[in-house]
Amino acid sequence: MISLVASAVSINDRCTACGACLPTCPSRALLPGPLRPIVVADRCTECLECIEICPRDAIEESPR
Ligand code: SF4
Ligand code: SF4
Repeated sequence: MISLVASAVSINDRCTACGACLPTCPSRALLPGPLRPIVVADRCTECLECIEICPRDAIEESPR
């Protein structure tokens, strides 16, 4: 099923796929993807913890 919910966060091309953000998400909304993590929009609670942890500043709050 395709989710039409917009992600609260998005991951830009500064991501090096280090994986550091994956275990920090309390909602398991970050999954490994082919190039960089995937945000599962309908699991994300917008806690923004992943933004704090990323060493590359690659996670951004999406515009609403
Ligand atoms: S912590 Fe940042 S650089 Fe590492 S995988 Fe997550 S988004 Fe990419
Ligand atoms: S904002 Fe919070 S819930 Fe959403 S992906 Fe980041 S860590 Fe997970």
